[in-house]
Amino acid sequence: AKVEEARRLAPRFAARAAGHDRAGLFPAEDFADLRRSGMFGLMVPERLGGAGAGFADYAAVAYELARGNGATALIFNMHASVTGALGGVTNELAEALGLPPEALEARDRCLRAAAEGSWYAVAMSERGSGSRLSQMTTSYEQNDDGFHIKGAKTFCSGAGHADAYLVAARSVTEPDKVSQFLVPPGPGLTVEQTWDALGMRATGSHDLHIDVTVPTSALLGGVEGLALVVAQLAPHWMVASYAAVYVGVARAAVDAAVEHVTDRKLGHLPAVRARIGRADAAVAAAHLTVMEAARRVDEAPGDAETNRWVWRAKLVAGTTAAEVAASMLEAAGTSAMRRGHPLERLYRDARAGSLQPATSDVCADWLGVEALGGDPDSQGSAPRW
Ligand SMILES: Cc1cc2nc3c(=O)[nH]c(=O)nc-3n(C[C@H](O)[C@H](O)[C@H](O)COP(=O)(O)OP(=O)(O)OC[C@H]3O[C@@H](n4cnc5c(N)ncnc54)[C@H](O)[C@@H]3O)c2cc1C
Repeated sequence: AKVEEARRLAPRFAARAAGHDRAGLFPAEDFADLRRSGMFGLMVPERLGGAGAGFADYAAVAYELARGNGATALIFNMHASVTGALGGVTNELAEALGLPPEALEARDRCLRAAAEGSWYAVAMSERGSGSRLSQMTTSYEQNDDGFHIKGAKTFCSGAGHADAYLVAARSVTEPDKVSQFLVPPGPGLTVEQTWDALGMRATGSHDLHIDVTVPTSALLGGVEGLALVVAQLAPHWMVASYAAVYVGVARAAVDAAVEHVTDRKLGHLPAVRARIGRADAAVAAAHLTVMEAARRVDEAPGDAETNRWVWRAKLVAGTTAAEVAASMLEAAGTSAMRRGHPLERLYRDARAGSLQPATSDVCADWLGVEALGGDPDSQGSAPRW
């Protein structure tokens, strides 16, 4: 049902996309639509009022939303990652990890709020270290009131609009511990409007300055130092959740090219036809790869073969999006390069796919090490996280 709803919303997003892109504005109306449709509860278990979706359900929804506006789908992806990862902490897993009961109460509070219409952004990346958790400089220290978090983040999609931010930070007293906190907006969180980028302009991925004290219940999992463990055990949210978004962007580029060449009566040209044929096949293959990875994530999360598919999916989706969008622009011609033409925006948005971590180069390296019989998590040329 949520996929149908995403299909219904996509044309509404598409109609607004050019305006949001040009001004680099957060797609507020799209988010109002998502809230009304109950999409913020997509990954929330049914017992807490959500739709109880799995990873494959998410991938199907993200693909459809991205066909409307990739930027909207990308901001939504951050929320789905937070709620999906939290929803994945089952009571059994919590017991196995030795998580305290307060952590489960906090998990349920956060998920219930999402089902009721709150959404979360991710403030992980930093200017000096990208998204490498092991290199974070934002720090936290326990005090009488909870945890004091201090630092600066960048590339925070939807900054200034979210109901809370997932902030990754390093312990001052035990620097090998990187933890994640859910921080509500307030005086200690300041958005600096820095996002004026080539593509995905409407994500409003601005800088965030943090100097705030949060109660101990804001520590996700209730135990310090879980961030890196989670990234390695279940990489699908960190590595492959964007993949469905970029395949949706690629499909939108094919659709826009078909419309353009049909309007201009160019569809009989063999070179144009063949470009569209190749693009269609490439997008279908990338889509299948993403859905196969997603199916495996639901069936056997964290399994070695599942993880292999997760890295493949991100690599294939990112490179396919950029290549397909470039080819569709070339098939459509110079008039599609004008600002405001859907292909002009899709070309720029698609360009971000390979750059977003894990970058295509990092995915390829991971898969290469693994294919050559090594341990891809520990044998990178730099730390993976
Ligand atoms: C549209 C968009 C939205 C985003 N939204 C968010 C968000 O909401 N929240 C958030 O926290 N972040 C977000 N990000 C940021 C993103 O997750 C990354 O942190 C960021 O793009 C990486 O930072 P960087 O530019 O320093 O690149 P780096 O990751 O430092 O990469 C630079 C170069 O080094 C290479 N490289 C990096 N790591 C390795 C390695 N281990 N081995 C070999 N080579 C490596 C890369 O391939 C690349 O060529 C967003 C990014 C984009 C493009």
